[in-house]
Amino acid sequence: MGRLKEPSEYERQYDTFIIKRFLDRKKASTESVSDDEKEKALRDFTRELMLYFDKGEEWKAKRSTIEKWMDRDRRLDELYNNAQAPVGIYCTTCGDELEMNLKTPAEKDGKDDVLFFYRCSKKHRGRAFYSVGAEYISKPSLCVECGEDTLVSESGRDNDALTIIDTCTACGHVDSFTFDSDPEFTDEEFESLRAKYCLSDEEGEQYLDMLSSMEDMKKLQEQIQDREDTQAMYALIESIQRISVPQFKESMVKLMEDAAFSNIHFDDPVMKGDVQLKLYADDSTTANAYDREKSITKLIRKELAHTNWKLMNDGVSFRMGVFTIRFRGFDNEDDVKKLVEIRLKRGELELPGLSAGAEASNVTLAAGDGSIVIP
Ligand SMILES: [Zn+2]
Ligand SMILES: [Zn+2]
Repeated sequence: MGRLKEPSEYERQYDTFIIKRFLDRKKASTESVSDDEKEKALRDFTRELMLYFDKGEEWKAKRSTIEKWMDRDRRLDELYNNAQAPVGIYCTTCGDELEMNLKTPAEKDGKDDVLFFYRCSKKHRGRAFYSVGAEYISKPSLCVECGEDTLVSESGRDNDALTIIDTCTACGHVDSFTFDSDPEFTDEEFESLRAKYCLSDEEGEQYLDMLSSMEDMKKLQEQIQDREDTQAMYALIESIQRISVPQFKESMVKLMEDAAFSNIHFDDPVMKGDVQLKLYADDSTTANAYDREKSITKLIRKELAHTNWKLMNDGVSFRMGVFTIRFRGFDNEDDVKKLVEIRLKRGELELPGLSAGAEASNVTLAAGDGSIVIP
């Protein structure tokens, strides 16, 4: 008998597999108890939605899974039909050549193979060989009590449970094992469960359409978002204060004085692609110089965040109570834009008009292999 079956049998096998998975999951999930009607309704809605996506993803995987199963069975059938039985097998007791009387699909070292059984016409112990020629050696099971190879096995079936009873003829020890197989559904049960947990092909196609229109919507939303971001970026660059060197000096003197520095003066500015400016200030306090460096750096960064000026990297240094602080100012629009981009990345600036948390209010659903965001 071949393994390959009608496609409808594979469909039933797949759907049964899915139904059991859903039923197991349902068993594992705890029913939410809530007095709040609204909350309960939302939860029910979310659960239904998630179920729908899960069903859709299972349907998506159905075709390829069934093809894989059929391919495997086809391959096994081919292997089974074409495998060559080893010849020249002799009885280990009387030396007669043995006759092959049975073959069965089997695995050899993790690979599919066929096992051939040989019997002796004089009823001596038979032998078994794989198609590759290796002999199958059955391991005798030993009594757990006395360790002898003296077990007699009996098996019996009770509904869906298979019971095997091993009795030791040497010491009388008895072991019994029961295997519960999953109950199969009746046709009626299966059809009603299938209607609940499996999408029909028509519903599956609808699911795919829905996914692709969701994808379109997401793209559209991204385009709108991009445009809004660009506009916000222009507005932000526009809002950056362009401060002249004299204005800048004045505001820095004030900031430094407020922070308890004195004798504040500047070197002459160095005019390059940008304007470089060096400030000197005496620390009027006796506080730890490293702490002073940290706090003045923070103050200056904050003060300059919305301007065309920046503190140079490692721009603050000190020696014996005198602080030296180096700045760069920009009057080139490209430089100002770069400045804004860096400050955005560092979180020193924010795009205007973006309400925080808008992203987080989307519903994220885990569905099958990926997660889908419902806008
Ligand atoms: Zn023999
Ligand atoms: Zn025993």
